[in-house]
Amino acid sequence: MEKKYDFLVIGSGVGGMSFALKAAEHGTVCMISKAEMDETNTRYAQGGIAAVTYEPDSYEKHVEDTLVAGDHLCNEEVVKMVVREAPEQISELIQWGTKFDKQSSGKYDLAREGGHSEHRILHHKDNTGQEIQRALSVQVRQHPKIELLENHFAVDLITQHHLGKLVKRHLTDIECYGAYVLDLETEQVHRILSKTTLLASGGAGNLYSTTTNPTIATGDGVAMVYRAKGIIENMEFVQFHPTSLYNPGESPSYLITEAMRGYGGILRNQLGEKFMNKYDKRGSLAPRDVVARAIDNEMKVHGHEFVYLDTTHLSGKELKEHFPNISEKCKSRGIDITKDLIPVVPAAHYMCGGVKVDMDGQTWIKRLYAVGEVSSTGLHGANRLASNSLIEAIVYADRAVKHAALYAKDYEFADHIPDWDDSGTTHPEEMVLITQNLKEVKQIMSNYVGIVRSDLRLERATARLEIIYRETEELYKKSNVSQRICELRNLLNVGYLVIKMAHARKESLGLHYNLDYPRRSDQV
Ligand SMILES: Cc1cc2nc3c(=O)[nH]c(=O)nc-3n(C[C@H](O)[C@H](O)[C@H](O)COP(=O)(O)OP(=O)(O)OC[C@H]3O[C@@H](n4cnc5c(N)ncnc54)[C@H](O)[C@@H]3O)c2cc1C
Repeated sequence: MEKKYDFLVIGSGVGGMSFALKAAEHGTVCMISKAEMDETNTRYAQGGIAAVTYEPDSYEKHVEDTLVAGDHLCNEEVVKMVVREAPEQISELIQWGTKFDKQSSGKYDLAREGGHSEHRILHHKDNTGQEIQRALSVQVRQHPKIELLENHFAVDLITQHHLGKLVKRHLTDIECYGAYVLDLETEQVHRILSKTTLLASGGAGNLYSTTTNPTIATGDGVAMVYRAKGIIENMEFVQFHPTSLYNPGESPSYLITEAMRGYGGILRNQLGEKFMNKYDKRGSLAPRDVVARAIDNEMKVHGHEFVYLDTTHLSGKELKEHFPNISEKCKSRGIDITKDLIPVVPAAHYMCGGVKVDMDGQTWIKRLYAVGEVSSTGLHGANRLASNSLIEAIVYADRAVKHAALYAKDYEFADHIPDWDDSGTTHPEEMVLITQNLKEVKQIMSNYVGIVRSDLRLERATARLEIIYRETEELYKKSNVSQRICELRNLLNVGYLVIKMAHARKESLGLHYNLDYPRRSDQV
């Protein structure tokens, strides 16, 4: 089956939804999500969304904090643009019905998180992402020009490659016509053609054994663009959240927001020592990469599986009011956050790199835009400042719509797009291979390409991943297309890119830490 729209939006998180709502003012929109609409990384965001709201905060301070966190690998022009455009985009979120917490004075209650020099995090209790997802999905569901297809999985982008045309004279010759999309209920692959395609497919936390990301985060967007020969960058910068609740077997790992450290929570090792001051003068409020490495080191040095977050010295009543969900979650595990220490462990959390885009969200493939976690805009550099990702997604969605609406007008749909070709394939008999390979990929990435890397570890990871890659490609060629085999393939592509880019960077910078190239400041 073939369907045609002005805009195809792949992903129903904050990036996809805010783009879709604005694109619908210019034409027909089809939004697909591979799960239920609300199962997104966005829904799990706790801390909040960063924007300059009141003095003494200023654009200059937000810019400076972002550049420092990003280890000065950020694109300064991009940082300035996002910071300046953030307040207007926050207003739009509020107009769409998002509620942020206020103080009794009527002013917004701004939180402060690690790496921020001011209180600037707008939040809704400790479940800001759920509130944004709720408000925007109400708007999307009732919009007459947006057709929502849940449980529809984008298998591949359609480019000239699928038309049998030779491309690659110049990178900019490649053009996107839409996507092949698998309806997960009927198991049929449809051609969805579009004048403009937006990738808002989120991150890839499931590349690792422990992650705060839901199961949808398998790097599909990056892998599709990589296969379509677009540009991918900065994949070595994987952010590990320093504090997820230690609860072996739980997936996704439950995040203990760093707002808790901002609120006065203190990290202790299992010996009861406040260890953070050994590593950074900012103590428990140091940026995420510093805290994650410090915890990783404490765990390795003492052979422990977790450290503790101590909130027992804080006012119990206020703590529960401020962090009701975390309090409940801990309670369900027998931990009273006013009396007990919370066991925490780092978990893969956010992909700073991704599909390279310009300041209008355009990828290097014509008519293909990318926003949100799948993209690499230059905002985060070598490390993302806390709460800068939701804001990045909505600022870029706004810019991408404005750009696409100007240029998509005169575009004719491509014709003669072939059907999805799965001739000669059958149902995979070896489902166990997919499950086993997936487990191994996660183990390899966690063991050798985690918080601390070395050249030898990266070489080991390459050799081991290579074997699984070849097995999986064989299986893929023989099998009917399915979500599980596609996700495994995508994770292998993304894992390969992380390792390749980590190997190519001959320095430790931001989130990328290689023992063979210590930071100058780490050398005695
Ligand atoms: C636990 C947690 C806490 C966080 N806290 C914060 C915070 O406080 N502040 C902050 O700024 N950021 C936070 N983040 C990061 C932030 O939530 C994400 O970066 C952001 O929500 C990403 O939005 P997105 O629109 O790019 O993607 P997502 O919200 O992840 O949405 C991705 C969408 O793409 C769809 N999709 C993916 N692949 C396919 C495919 N092949 N076919 C069809 N559909 C597909 C999915 O179904 C989903 O609908 C947090 C993240 C996590 C996990």
